[in-house]
Amino acid sequence: MFVPGLIERKRDGGALTPDEWRGLLSEYAAGRVPDYQLAALLMAGFLKGFTREEAAALLDGMMGEGARLDWAGLGRPVVDKHSTGGVGDKVSLVLAPLVAACGVAVPMMSGRGLGHTGGTLDKLESIPGFRTGLSLVETRAQMERIGCVLIGQTPEIAPVDKKLYALRDVTATVESIPLIAASIMSKKLSEGLHGLVLDVKLGSGAFITDPARSRELAEVMIALGEDRGCPTVALLTAMDRPLGRACGNALEVEESIAALRGEGPEDLLEVTMVEGVEMLLLSGAKDARAARRDLETALSSGRALDKLREIIEAQDGNPAVVDDPAILPQAALVEVFAAPRAGTVLQVEPRAIGRAVVQMGGGRQRVDDVVDPTVGFVISARPGQRVERGEPLASIYARDEAGLRIAEDALGRALRIGEGAAEALPLVAARISAKGYEAL
Ligand code: URA
Repeated sequence: MFVPGLIERKRDGGALTPDEWRGLLSEYAAGRVPDYQLAALLMAGFLKGFTREEAAALLDGMMGEGARLDWAGLGRPVVDKHSTGGVGDKVSLVLAPLVAACGVAVPMMSGRGLGHTGGTLDKLESIPGFRTGLSLVETRAQMERIGCVLIGQTPEIAPVDKKLYALRDVTATVESIPLIAASIMSKKLSEGLHGLVLDVKLGSGAFITDPARSRELAEVMIALGEDRGCPTVALLTAMDRPLGRACGNALEVEESIAALRGEGPEDLLEVTMVEGVEMLLLSGAKDARAARRDLETALSSGRALDKLREIIEAQDGNPAVVDDPAILPQAALVEVFAAPRAGTVLQVEPRAIGRAVVQMGGGRQRVDDVVDPTVGFVISARPGQRVERGEPLASIYARDEAGLRIAEDALGRALRIGEGAAEALPLVAARISAKGYEAL
């Protein structure tokens, strides 16, 4: 394989054949193609684009010789969801136990915080003792016993994606739609799913902020899933403000528990329900109305909350947090942020909030940073709300005075108060499936 020739072709706007991509990624995984050559090739593709055929070949290459989970004999449909990530997006923590409580198996494999966005694994690890690193044998056993796991990418799943992602992260080649789509789907398709729901975020807090590109990302992922026999549906949801009120790891776990009691913020519950309906439809539910009724019953009967308790216990966490969230680690300092003036809340800008959580210690600025689970915000102000000067808009949870200052500064910028109408995206803007795009 003459790699400089492949780089040259990509640099000049050409495409590599599926065999060339698969061979190249396999040689890269084996250490026979160096990082610098692959980085040059990825950057050329980043700038010139990849064809749909190349995206499919990249997917195969990223899955590599990794494990494919097989649920034969489980006796239940197996579905999962993936979110492209946001601020305050704790849907997975509510959705997985809720859908599992409806008799559908959910092998939810999640990631850590990335950039300004939070990660489900970091949130779960704020529960004392909770273990996200289950082996494949433990995963299978827990799926048989309770029908749900909340875990990280195991070393056997999509190993080439793991190596490649680390390279992309440090060579500014993450934000390419075909690369993102292939990377996300390499993990999801390794889960051996019967169906997949994608939550693709729109707005300034999303990973990709251009709505047309978000839609394209959804469409590429759907095509990859459907081609591999995994029915895939995407919902485009709002990330022009945080989802729910809590932003920060332990605070989001607490809010998720409240949501499972039916006491959660309305927007969080609504996004969870809409995604849950899609997961149940992919699992054979009669229609959307019946699916929603099942979800509501699982919530109101307490079965969904019981399922979360079971999952926490099975993964060595302290299940008592479900009844007493005060067991979660608590911030040293709590301060109220008040409205600096009267007016209408025009915007609650999520990216500034997410970045502040990271700077306060709730995320990583370097790969080896240890995450502080206690810090973050609970923001009660919503776009469109009329507020008086001095009215409490948010609570800040910080570990020290420096964290408080970072948080105050971020809230001062993120909470725009003025006159006029707030502009907010619809909570769930569209549904995309193999049949096409449907505005909601
Ligand atoms: N998440 C992934 O898993 N891969 C990407 O490329 C981007 C986000």
